[in-house]
Amino acid sequence: MTGQTLDATREAVAAAARRLAAEGLVLGTAGNVSARAGDLVAVSPTGAVLAELEPEQVVVVDLHGKTVHGEFAPTSEIDLHLGAYHRHKAGAVVHAHSPVGTALACVLDELPLIHYQMLALGGPIRVAPYATFGTPELAELTLDALEGRAAALMANHGMIAIGPDLDAAVENALLLEWVAELYWRAAAVGRPRTLDADQAQDFIDAITARGYGTLQERDQ
Ligand SMILES: [Zn+2]
Repeated sequence: MTGQTLDATREAVAAAARRLAAEGLVLGTAGNVSARAGDLVAVSPTGAVLAELEPEQVVVVDLHGKTVHGEFAPTSEIDLHLGAYHRHKAGAVVHAHSPVGTALACVLDELPLIHYQMLALGGPIRVAPYATFGTPELAELTLDALEGRAAALMANHGMIAIGPDLDAAVENALLLEWVAELYWRAAAVGRPRTLDADQAQDFIDAITARGYGTLQERDQ
């Protein structure tokens, strides 16, 4: 791992934290961000105001959580982050107490498949059972809920999103918050309809055939 790559990763973690704050997903110190660079992980420090996070404040730990660089202690949810790298082969992790996702996580056991964009997250979103923050138990329950998914809700706590890189993890967190808000608004009117397995498969077939979501050259 070159120092330059590590510096770039610390800068990217700080930028992602500031973006999550600007998008309204994290308030104050309530959230944390990390990204993997080889055998190391750059992670936001515990107690940091994410809207003001600077690259120099970002801690670097190895895959066992031992601090390699940085003067601050890593986030209290470090087990959750490291577990996502070990178990789910993530490249980056975002944890936030986003307003709408967290509200739904106080009520639902699962966020059902109400919109096809949720298939980008792997389908219906599980709500991990509640456990005290920063505990190995919470990390375990949340990592279970992430199985086959790019995001999960955490009962009476918040959300987690992962991705191959920081941009993807942030986009997945924003997508989950958008879907949570969609569910909330729909549920205010009535019982939201859900997509069934055939409709989900038809969508997957359609994007496979059409390359939906990517720029395409027009027919000549
Ligand atoms: Zn939290």
